[in-house]
Amino acid sequence: VSSNVTYRLMNLYQAMYNANGYLDWWPGDTELEICIGAILTQNTAWNNVEKAISNLKREGMLDVERILSSSTDEIANLIRPSGYFNQKALYLIEFCKFLQDNQLDSLKVMEAQDVRGRLLNVKGIGKETADSIMLYALGFPIFVVDAYTKRLLSRVGLTSNNASYDDIQDLFMENLVTDIELFNDYHAQIVEIGKNYCRKHPKCDLCPIRINGLCTWSINKSSRKS
Ligand code: SF4
Repeated sequence: VSSNVTYRLMNLYQAMYNANGYLDWWPGDTELEICIGAILTQNTAWNNVEKAISNLKREGMLDVERILSSSTDEIANLIRPSGYFNQKALYLIEFCKFLQDNQLDSLKVMEAQDVRGRLLNVKGIGKETADSIMLYALGFPIFVVDAYTKRLLSRVGLTSNNASYDDIQDLFMENLVTDIELFNDYHAQIVEIGKNYCRKHPKCDLCPIRINGLCTWSINKSSRKS
């Protein structure tokens, strides 16, 4: 454990928290809704997922049995706003089949690595989705990594450009205290900063991380150019 990394990670969190307040994630009324949102959000923005979820809700389809008794086309049609809807409809069906044999409540009391392995065996569930489900629906203290996390950490100089999912997850989990509330809100803060500032073309001048003196990416970038 490098205390310097811990210090930097906590300063980053504090700067984001001070700017955004506690974000109270994940948006979703039930554990199943959180899981479904985690699957639907693959390769799309959250506002598209919201539309898909509200369609499912309207039709009473946020329900394992209802999903399993519907056709792929029916589901695909409802989740159309989330993109890749045919593929995601199949993923939702596969996930609901999985839930028939693995109730959410029974997963919560299993060993974390066992649960993660089971989730990763479900078609359509990769590491980011599995970890989102584990943290936000099942309450396991596991750090979720996404494209925003990868970009932000590399720009602030905590990881290299080509750091893997596992490298980045390990950095957080080895240097932060294992605290579910912290893991929950830290990921939410990164998504918020990633959406609003640390985009492909970042808005560094307005970014709370830069304002707090914690990121010199834009300065380094302009000096590289000159
Ligand atoms: S200052 Fe710029 S590069 Fe650094 S975290 Fe903020 S938006 Fe991203």
